[in-house]
Amino acid sequence: MTANRGRTIFERIIDREIPAQIVFEDDDFIAIRDIAPKAPIHLLVIPKRHTERVDEITDAAEMGRLWLTAVKVAREQAADYRLVVNCGEGGGQVVFHTHIHILAGWEKGPESD
Ligand code: C5P
Repeated sequence: MTANRGRTIFERIIDREIPAQIVFEDDDFIAIRDIAPKAPIHLLVIPKRHTERVDEITDAAEMGRLWLTAVKVAREQAADYRLVVNCGEGGGQVVFHTHIHILAGWEKGPESD
């Protein structure tokens, strides 16, 4: 169990307190353009229900919907893509509200970036 780090930037984006470039939204998820892209296309798929990290989601249907949403958004943006989840500080996570990175848009794959 991780410490409670308070309300995150993504909750503030979901609540429209902070602007973001929103590329998809439904009742349960929002997808935005990453503010500091690490690939030509870099999106974040964010569940509206707050969990700090992906391994706090224990319901299979909820986890399934998250990944299905990420794949759907990715396919709308690119034929080929990489999905990444950073989990915990040691895993490179900086924002402690669960999210999936969609990275895409390289000419020949990620190593060419
Ligand atoms: O997985 P991790 O927590 O490291 O990623 C957080 C991501 O959120 C970063 O890629 C960062 O650029 C992005 N971010 C954003 N908009 C903000 C703050 C962070 O897109 N306002």
